[in-house]
Amino acid sequence: MRLIFLTSAVISDILLLIFIIFLQKKKSPLRASIQKIFITAFIGIMANIIIAAAITPMLTNVAFTLYFSSIDLITYQLLMFAFTYTGQLKSLKEFVEFWRVAIIVDVLNLTASIFSGHMYTMYSITLDDGSIAYLTTPASLFNVHLLLCYLPIILTLVLLAISLSKAHNFYRLKYFPILVSLSFIIILNVAYMMFKLPFDWSVLFYAFAGFLLFFYSLFYIPRRLMNNTLSLAVDSMKEGLLLYDAEENCIYINKTAHDDFDIQEETLSLDQYPISLWLEDKDKDNLESFQQIYPMTIKGKDLMIKVDYRICEDNKHNHLGAFFLFEDVTADQILMKNLEEAKAEANQANVAKSLFLANMSHEIRTPINSILGMNEMILRESSDEHILEYADDIQKSGDTLLSLINNILDFSKIESGKMEIRPTGYAPFQLLRECYHLIEPRAVQKDLPIEIKCDPDIPREILGDRERIKQILINLLTNSVKYTRYGQVTLSAKWTPFDEKEGMVSFTVTDTGQGISEDDITKLFNVFQRVDEERNRTVEGTGLGLAICRELVRMMNGNISVSSKQGEGSEFTVSIPQRVLDPMASGKFELQKESAPKRSAYKESFHAPDAKILVVDDIEMNLKLMAALLKKTGLQISVANSGERAIEICKNEEFDLILMDHMMPPPDGHETMKLIKAEGGHNAEIPYVVLTANAVEGAKVTYLSMGFDGYLSKPVLSRDLEEMLMKFLPKDKIHT
Ligand code: ADP
Repeated sequence: MRLIFLTSAVISDILLLIFIIFLQKKKSPLRASIQKIFITAFIGIMANIIIAAAITPMLTNVAFTLYFSSIDLITYQLLMFAFTYTGQLKSLKEFVEFWRVAIIVDVLNLTASIFSGHMYTMYSITLDDGSIAYLTTPASLFNVHLLLCYLPIILTLVLLAISLSKAHNFYRLKYFPILVSLSFIIILNVAYMMFKLPFDWSVLFYAFAGFLLFFYSLFYIPRRLMNNTLSLAVDSMKEGLLLYDAEENCIYINKTAHDDFDIQEETLSLDQYPISLWLEDKDKDNLESFQQIYPMTIKGKDLMIKVDYRICEDNKHNHLGAFFLFEDVTADQILMKNLEEAKAEANQANVAKSLFLANMSHEIRTPINSILGMNEMILRESSDEHILEYADDIQKSGDTLLSLINNILDFSKIESGKMEIRPTGYAPFQLLRECYHLIEPRAVQKDLPIEIKCDPDIPREILGDRERIKQILINLLTNSVKYTRYGQVTLSAKWTPFDEKEGMVSFTVTDTGQGISEDDITKLFNVFQRVDEERNRTVEGTGLGLAICRELVRMMNGNISVSSKQGEGSEFTVSIPQRVLDPMASGKFELQKESAPKRSAYKESFHAPDAKILVVDDIEMNLKLMAALLKKTGLQISVANSGERAIEICKNEEFDLILMDHMMPPPDGHETMKLIKAEGGHNAEIPYVVLTANAVEGAKVTYLSMGFDGYLSKPVLSRDLEEMLMKFLPKDKIHT
């Protein structure tokens, strides 16, 4: 008997130890509370093993104290567990906290019994097989100990019983097994005491009851709850779900799928509608997943159904089954179609806008070309002061009109993503000088001095899009001059190195002008937004300049900022990261005092009386203009007012170069060039320069790829025209 008890007790203890270790992982309040019970139960069984082994009276006496104390603790912890587990009578939880003090006193008293018999005295009996066993005789204080143990046990049972009576269906299982096993332990324990049995068999059921507690509270109940709730959730989904096992048997169909297709788990095979439709064109043996949209009729409605198929595998890639998930995406499809149509419309509108801008630019440039060209002739040839003044005004207005068109074109390029940043090596000081000379004439007219302050450490050559940076600086400087009446405008440049190879170049334009109010600063960079309109009525502008600057700076990964005080002036700073090409410091900045050539100082850059060129343009005025602009070079100029005429002339005459308009009634410039070249002979080998009002992004590249050797955009500047001719005319015919 003793051996059976001992063996069972050791097995029980080992089991408990395993549970304790297992509970160590992933601790939750419930797991922690169960773990505490198990640890105490483990100690209780250990004590019982020592008692049953009856090694020495003293050791047995100590083991009794340990055992009674562990029962104190177990019952208390059971009660705490019951509060957590049942969620009942939480208010009592605080009240029973005093139990801890009572337990400590009880444990001390039990310990005293080892020496003085406060609670029990120990005696020995002789068992049937002749061996000794130890039992205790309770003293009256022992009843206090019993009360301390049984009161929490009874409370625990009451809590479980109340919860059991309130629970419904499977929730009953949460309480029932624990209630039964606890009651069983109590009965065995009472029997041990009442019948003075040599062994307390109840302790053997600690592990069993523990296992039930463990299994029900931590696995069975949460799992069942999860399964039930999951299937309820899956049933209420608007998507349909069909689950298959690895043998292709349908194991689950949710409510939506049941309702939509009137199908049952037991009878649904892969060959049956709707699965047959979904798998029609698929290789079933090698199918892992697919997603497809099918037009289907469900409950009399024509719908678009998106089907998602996937196989399920465990983490070792064993095939477990598969599922079909389907949903009605009709509304999404309609929305998508509408969006695509709207996008196509928007694209069309954008293309139309770009075309309109290109055409408008072309149409406006053509007459400006004539106006500015003819005006240039007046400026060159007239000596009447009044007429020169009028011509000057025409030129200014023409320039303004031109910059307006350029701004609009630039913005459309930025908007359509066609604006490109083209870095080249440049000398920052040279760039500043050019800006100065470009802005100086305007500033002189307003009596505004322009000061340039330069950081001598700026590297001599850096890499960046010099033309775009110049455009930004000219824009800022033009604004400062435009909006400043007295004082001065300052352009300063600073270099902040990141390392040897890179740094930040910052340009600041400061003026002492009218300034911008705080409210207006926020609107400053908006497209077509002009601020302080009342005061700026007489200042020309479109409100595009700063918006373009901001976009260009952004494209160069830089930053533009402004600070301003109304009535005191403004300060615009542009900072752009640049690579260093020549790290040598630029040194002291010097302005070479040469200004842009003045109109009165026009001087042809070459003479070429032996060279012959043909100018082809359908607008007579342009032909006249070319002849006038090039008069002083002495060139022999023939003109043709159509492609056909040009072809004819080329049959009889040999030229050194042909200047060709592009947009002409058929044949256009390109066609004409091809036809002349097709005739062969001398004129097939000469350079062709296209002279066109088409100035949209990429125009130059397009024309060069068409076979033209050079590209000039209207309105043409005589300086550019002469430069182009010098480049392409035979060198021996040019005299400079
Ligand atoms: P605009 O072509 O009208 O000059 P911008 O985009 O260059 O267009 O500038 C927008 C507005 O910002 C201008 O209309 C002007 O009111 C204000 N502004 C720009 N620069 C300055 C400045 N330096 N001082 C005062 N106001 C300025």
